[in-house]
Amino acid sequence: MGLAYLFISHDLAVVRYVSHRIAVMYLGRIVEIGNAEDVWAGRLHPYTQALVNAIPDEAARRDDVQLLEGDVPSPVNPPSGCPFRTRCVFAKEACAESRPELRKVGTHEVACHFAEKISS
Ligand code: SF4
Repeated sequence: MGLAYLFISHDLAVVRYVSHRIAVMYLGRIVEIGNAEDVWAGRLHPYTQALVNAIPDEAARRDDVQLLEGDVPSPVNPPSGCPFRTRCVFAKEACAESRPELRKVGTHEVACHFAEKISS
């Protein structure tokens, strides 16, 4: 019918079932985007992983990812470099120096300097 829906939620378990494509946003920017099953199965960004780990269904969790801690920074005065670095357990010095752009890694796109290392 030529219809498109934009469904917005923090619950990735629901998003997965109603979406053909998923765009994960943090502080107003897309940090991971791709086909729903690709993003779900190959989640690369630490924020996407944290959202999955927040799902009460333990079967969906990966053992190697920690739950998200800390507060969301002000979008008016975001951290330098990667906006997620103040909450990211994988953050390194480089994360404060430059903002990661969306780039293709595997099946979809992610904005993280270390996506390949985090996913392996
Ligand atoms: S760029 Fe650095 S701070 Fe940002 S998500 Fe990747 S590892 Fe974490």
